[in-house]
Amino acid sequence: MKFDILTLFPQIIESYCDESIMKRAKDNGVFTLNTVNPRDFTLDKHKKVDDTPYGGGAGMVLAPQPYIDAYESIKKEENSITIMLSPQGEPLSEKTVCELADYDQIIMLCGHYEGFDERIREIIKPKEISIGDFVLTGGELPALCLIDAVSRKIEGTLGKIESANEDSFSNGLLEYPQYTKPREYRGLNVPDVLLNGNHKQIQKFRLEQQINRTKIRRPDLYKKYLDTLQDK
Ligand code: SAM
Repeated sequence: MKFDILTLFPQIIESYCDESIMKRAKDNGVFTLNTVNPRDFTLDKHKKVDDTPYGGGAGMVLAPQPYIDAYESIKKEENSITIMLSPQGEPLSEKTVCELADYDQIIMLCGHYEGFDERIREIIKPKEISIGDFVLTGGELPALCLIDAVSRKIEGTLGKIESANEDSFSNGLLEYPQYTKPREYRGLNVPDVLLNGNHKQIQKFRLEQQINRTKIRRPDLYKKYLDTLQDK
């Protein structure tokens, strides 16, 4: 996977990817990371990337020329997708993350300030993705959410790819409760069934826990799960 990130703040992206599991994945060649700064493509001596909005209003709008030129400088692979991080985009889901993991290259456009001049959308025609119904100051955190979530779906990022397959959402349910040592902590015990080594019983217990949890915490997901079962 090749991640090409258009950002005015490449350091934010690079520093996250230089830590922990993302660093290991990058070092293992699971993905390559290339940041491109639109500021390096400005034509004026002040390296201005934004300007005041036509029609008035607060804040600054990202001008088209530096973004389009920066975007066009990126070599596009055959199996490539371009994503604009935007609160107006499709809400990010596990399904989208899995679909994105099948591409060879993901180009991401991170906005800032008041966001993009509309012509950037019209010319590039990206898929727009939102990480939730709230507004952040920039697209760097949403881009990192995507890089992280997509990388976890690619062999070589996690110690065992099965870890991702057992996480919340992978079978439409939230994950079961997890326990580690010690067996007893402040009067709270690990459920006996997890200690008896009977894998069938453990699986049954975990599935029941997943179902109960999802029913209580995410009735919307639970309903979908029941519908899928019925279809099957
Ligand atoms: N004025 C824009 C609006 O109301 O739709 C919001 C601009 S926001 C302050 C600046 C940038 O942060 C956006 O261009 C986008 O790249 C990023 N951003 C903010 N919230 C986001 C979200 N929920 N999901 C994805 N990107 C987001």
